[in-house]
Amino acid sequence: MKVIRAKVLGFCMGVRRAVDMAEGELRSGGRVCTMGPLIHNPQVLESLQRQGAEILNEDKLPENLAGVTVIIRAHGISPVLEDELKKRGARIADATCLRVKASQMKARTLAAKGYTLFLAGEKKHGEVIGIQGYAKGIPNYAPGCIVIAESGEAEHAAADFYRNNPTAKTALIGQTTISTEEYRTIGEGIKKFFPALEIADTICGATRDRQEALRKLCGEVDAVIVAGGRESANTRRLLAIAQAQNKPAWLVESSAEIPIEIALYNTVGLCAGASTPDETIDAIESALLATGRSELPQKPS
Ligand code: SF4
Repeated sequence: MKVIRAKVLGFCMGVRRAVDMAEGELRSGGRVCTMGPLIHNPQVLESLQRQGAEILNEDKLPENLAGVTVIIRAHGISPVLEDELKKRGARIADATCLRVKASQMKARTLAAKGYTLFLAGEKKHGEVIGIQGYAKGIPNYAPGCIVIAESGEAEHAAADFYRNNPTAKTALIGQTTISTEEYRTIGEGIKKFFPALEIADTICGATRDRQEALRKLCGEVDAVIVAGGRESANTRRLLAIAQAQNKPAWLVESSAEIPIEIALYNTVGLCAGASTPDETIDAIESALLATGRSELPQKPS
């Protein structure tokens, strides 16, 4: 079997910075917690836990965090939650990705100017919840924040809001990992009611680069393996892109999950989400290369 790697794959700048920061804090000793999972990758989370990191749950925050270093994840958190951690005595180490931070600041500025924000992204994703917090965190200023999970919802949500607020100033911010096409379609849907919609450019180039590299790779291979965590939005999106190109494709978190059917294909493409570490990609590549014809599923006689 031949394995071809996507030209761009694995850790992005924001994830690498968050992991480096967490490992640095763990090396310097003391109690270290992350506010929720640091990134969406099971191997990285296990490794950090082995080094002593604990994961805090927002619904069950300890009363006393004096002397504890709390690392804010790459996706960021809301300012209300950050204040709560500080009130309980935590020392904050902020690993919010700089691109996510830029989206948070944009949301805060627009809200302070009286804009109602449409936020395109997954409703329960940590990044979206954090940005919402910045849009809503200015009492007497921010009129609101409407989350649009997919393009089919945009026009309906805009129509609903327009009914009682036809003269509102509106702006659109996107989750950093949203696809360019989806973001454009959401903007067009809202513009039918609010033609002056201000659209912020918040899509992360790292996500776009991995998606484009995969599209090119699909032209050279018979099947695709996407390496990464199932909780990772950008990894799941890579799987959807490969499938949209009519390639048999699987998302695997480790080499143990490689499906036996992969042996049916001569050339396999390997790509990985922005939170997948190099060691996992290398292990999956080695396992693919070791896949022998003897592992082919037996045809029924
Ligand atoms: S994908 Fe982009 S926005 Fe998200 S953590 Fe990586 S660099 Fe930051």
